[in-house]
Amino acid sequence: MKSLRHTLFLLITITYGYSYASEEDKSFQEQSMLSVLYVQTSTEFAANNIQTFNNASKALDMALQDKTWTAALEQKNNFSSKKPAIIVDVDETVLDNSSFQSRTILSGLSYPNGWAKWVNESNASAVEGAYEFLHYANDSDVKIFYVTNRLESFREPTIKNLKRLGLPFDDNKNTLLMRVDENVRDKTERRKYIADDYRIVLLVGDQLTDFISTKEAYVFHSDRKKLAKKYSDMWGSKWFMITNPTYGRWELSIYDKMPKSEDEAIQKRKETLNP
Ligand SMILES: [Mg+2]
Repeated sequence: MKSLRHTLFLLITITYGYSYASEEDKSFQEQSMLSVLYVQTSTEFAANNIQTFNNASKALDMALQDKTWTAALEQKNNFSSKKPAIIVDVDETVLDNSSFQSRTILSGLSYPNGWAKWVNESNASAVEGAYEFLHYANDSDVKIFYVTNRLESFREPTIKNLKRLGLPFDDNKNTLLMRVDENVRDKTERRKYIADDYRIVLLVGDQLTDFISTKEAYVFHSDRKKLAKKYSDMWGSKWFMITNPTYGRWELSIYDKMPKSEDEAIQKRKETLNP
């Protein structure tokens, strides 16, 4: 049963992204309106992100004092003398794409419709607190790696966006590790690659897979929720999670099979509610 579910979730990954929304009927896309407004207008969301990045800066101080400290499950032996590095995800961790989300609600057309256009504009704003945290890390002589599932073809506009926001970016080294194979979203290999040369001291992301493998994270929501507790020692000390209520694997994990229509998705959402 477990392996069947795992296979199912891999399939869902490959087919990620609804495309059955239409311009005539925007009701399905409109279901995300409040979560997008929460991101765009609430001071609670902004405060939460500042809180997370402030705490990450404090954890960084501790990490730099302790050479036995590593945040990456992929980091194995003999890392104490390696230079320190942090890994941050890009979308909804450093870059705020809620304007793109807004467009999908207004047009009725969901991701990936309009995504390439949005990325090529290089105009996403920074998630609150990210600028200060990244500069703090940079000033502390910590190497910053941006590990993102944006496709490699978006390298140029992504760098342009990061630089436009004045975020630290090292042009002399490949510090932007993108998704090379369209079907491989797992970040484990990229974390391993960084761990070869660096001591990874903090991870920051908005998806579970910014911290653990897709194999472990792509499970049904009831099993998935247990993973928060499994790694309770990591959250807030070495791993920092930015809340993303607008999209992500959390949503796909409520479907035991990929919905074939908007109605089916809405029905499944209702069935998943716990009144
Ligand atoms: Mg992200």
